[in-house]
Amino acid sequence: MDIDFKKYADGLAPAIVQDYTTNRVLMLGFMNADALEVTGRTGMVTFYSRSKKRLWTKGEESGNHLLVKQIMADCDKDTLLIKATPVGPVCHTGADTCFSEKNHRQDFLQYLEEIIQLRQQASPEDSYVSRLLHKGINKVAQKVGEEAVELVIEAKDNNEGLFLNEAADLLFHYLILLNAKGYNLQHVTDVLQKRHSK
Ligand code: AMP
Ligand code: ZN
Ligand code: ZN
Ligand code: ZN
Repeated sequence: MDIDFKKYADGLAPAIVQDYTTNRVLMLGFMNADALEVTGRTGMVTFYSRSKKRLWTKGEESGNHLLVKQIMADCDKDTLLIKATPVGPVCHTGADTCFSEKNHRQDFLQYLEEIIQLRQQASPEDSYVSRLLHKGINKVAQKVGEEAVELVIEAKDNNEGLFLNEAADLLFHYLILLNAKGYNLQHVTDVLQKRHSK
């Protein structure tokens, strides 16, 4: 990774850390050539801390390290983008990211997965998802099959509204099935991504 550190009087280039799976911006730090070398060698994001005046491996006290997945330079090689997996809250305030908003709107499907996860604990009287999960995996899988058949039927007709509704039903129940099996969409996209890179 050749970064033009000489462009900066203090030899420090900005390094944006982005969550590898959610794409959220986690934090911004500064790296000199040493920090970048340590980051690449150890696989743990290491900055040059301007307040500590030394190399600072994020998580060195808290244990909340940032595990490096990918390091990229920008177009003119003066800024770093580091895709990483956080092992805990990134911000010293305890927030997931240093740029968290109270009502941060994340990817809706991911939000839906979290709701489904929460419904596992909800009472069956109050929640459709909870009722379905209580009936067991076979029942959830059967429901996915039914919704798939309904989608196939609507695909043959030309009612776009009904087609989209059945597509939504299928996706919703598919997420519930993944959840019931202990997986989520990330596990599926991981498989797809691996196939793609072959
Ligand atoms: P840590 O590297 O997580 O063990 O935290 C060590 C110290 O670094 C903390 O006490 C804070 O002063 C500082 N720190 C931790 N996380 C951040 C952050 N995301 N942004 C700025 N400073 C931080
Ligand atoms: Zn640039
Ligand atoms: Zn912070
Ligand atoms: Zn349906």
